[in-house]
Amino acid sequence: MGRLIVASNRTARPQEPRAGGLAVALWDALSERGGGVWFGWSGDTLARETRGVRLFVEGAVDFALADLTEAEYQGYYLGYANRTIWPVFHYRVDLAHFDQEAFDTYAAVNRRFGGLLCQLLRQDDIVWVHDYHFMLLGQELRNSGWQGPVGFFLHIPFPAPEVFTALPQHARLARGLADYDLIGFQTARDVDNFCRYMEQHHGAELLPGGRLRCFGRSMRVAAFPIGIDAQDFARLAVAPEAAAAATRLGRLIENRALVIGVDRMDYSKGLPQRLQAFGRLLDENETLRGRVSLLQIAPPSRETVGAYRDLREELDRLAGRVNGDYSDLDWTPIRYLARGYPREMLAGLFRLARVGLVTPLHDGMNLVAKEYVAAQDAEDPGVLVLSEFAGAAERMQGALLVNPHDIGAMAEAIRRALEMPLEERQERWRALFAEVAEHDLTAWRRSFIAALEAAAEPAGPVAAAIPA
Ligand code: ADP
Repeated sequence: MGRLIVASNRTARPQEPRAGGLAVALWDALSERGGGVWFGWSGDTLARETRGVRLFVEGAVDFALADLTEAEYQGYYLGYANRTIWPVFHYRVDLAHFDQEAFDTYAAVNRRFGGLLCQLLRQDDIVWVHDYHFMLLGQELRNSGWQGPVGFFLHIPFPAPEVFTALPQHARLARGLADYDLIGFQTARDVDNFCRYMEQHHGAELLPGGRLRCFGRSMRVAAFPIGIDAQDFARLAVAPEAAAAATRLGRLIENRALVIGVDRMDYSKGLPQRLQAFGRLLDENETLRGRVSLLQIAPPSRETVGAYRDLREELDRLAGRVNGDYSDLDWTPIRYLARGYPREMLAGLFRLARVGLVTPLHDGMNLVAKEYVAAQDAEDPGVLVLSEFAGAAERMQGALLVNPHDIGAMAEAIRRALEMPLEERQERWRALFAEVAEHDLTAWRRSFIAALEAAAEPAGPVAAAIPA
C-alpha cells in the first residue's frame, strides 16, 4: 500500500498538540497507512519567495511546508480564496470581490505548490487535496507529470450553477477540478449542483456509479458528509472542565433555560437573523421574558475584511436593542461573547443548553450542530434548531429545521423547542445521535480514501467497469 499524501492550505502544526477535529482525523489517516506526507502552507509570509519546502518529521508523518510571499498571501489567501470564492460559494455574490489579479496569484500559488508537491511524490502514493484554496492543485500536479490518484474534498458548499457562474473564472476552475479522479462534497445537494453545472456549461456526460466524463477525463463525484468524533465529544461533555464551565454559567443564569449559539463570526452563519429571532421570541411571548437567555459565542475572524467589521457592528446594535428593551436587574436576555473557548468548555455549555441554535444562511456541513447533539444528556436532552441550508440538515432530520431568513418561523421553533415534552426530546435526540455516531470522522476519512483508491483504478471503458 502506498503512502497517503494530504495537501491542505493549513496543516496541523508540527510538534504541537492537535486540538481535535479535522487535524486529528487527517493525522490518523496518515498514521493508519503507516506514513505519509502532510503538505501545505507554513503559515509564514516572507518578503521574498523562498525555494522549496521545509520538512519536519513527526512519527510516521513528514510535514512539508512552503511559505508564501506577502504578495501571494494577499492575492491567493486574503484575495481570491477569502474574498472571492468564500462569499460566492456561500451565496454572497454581493460581498465578493472580482479581481483578475487576485485570481492570477491564486493560480500561480497553485502552480508553484503543485510543482513543490510533485517532487515529494513516489509511485504508489495517493494524494488527497483539501478545500477551496487548492482547486487547481490537481491540475498542476498533472502538469508536473503526476499520473497517480488525486482526490479533492470541498469542505464548503458548492453553489447552484447560476451562482457559480458569477465567478469570471468558473470555467478555469471547472477545468482544473476535472483533473481529479475523485471529487468529494459534503452533501447530495452539492453533488447535484456540481453535476448540473458541468452538464450545462461543459457538456459533461453523467455515467453510472456517480462518474462524470468531461474535458476528455473521467472522474467520480460523490458526497462524503464530514462528521465529528462523537464518542470523544460526548466524553468531553462530562469531563471536569466541562462541568466547571457549566456550573459557572449555571450560577449566572440560575434556573432559566439557556439557548446557545457557537460560531466563528462570519456572515454565512446567520447571526443577525438569529438575534432578531430571539428578539421576536421575547416580543411575542411575554411569559418567556425573564425565563430564557441566549448565549451567543462568536469570536471575530478574518477581521481584515471590511464585511466582518460591519457584521460586528450590526450584532452589537441588535443585541443592544433586545437587551435595552427587556433586561432587568437580574437578567440580560442576550449575552454575546466575542471570543473562542476551549472545546471542553464548549462541550459543557452545550450540555447545559436546552436549545442549540445552529442557523447558518449557508454552510458546507456545520460541526457545531453535531457537537451539540453529542454533548447532550440522553436522559434529558436539549433540542437542536437547525437551518435547512446547513449541510448537516440533509441527514439530521430529527432537528427542528428552519429557514434562517424566516425570523418569525425561527422564533416559533425556539418556542417549540423550549416547550417540547421530554419524550419527544428523547426520541429526536436518539435519532440524531445515532446519525452523528454512525457518520463520524473516522467513517468520513475511510470512505473517502477507499473511494479514491477505487476511482483511480485503471478501469478500461469506464461505464462498463462501474456497476450501475
Ligand atoms: P466552520 O468550519 O465554518 O467554522 P463548523 O461548525 O463546521 O464551522 O466548525 C467549527 C468548529 O470550530 C467546531 O468544532 C466548533 O466547536 C469550533 N468553534 C466554533 N466557534 C468557536 C468558538 N467561539 N470557540 C471555540 N471553538 C469554536
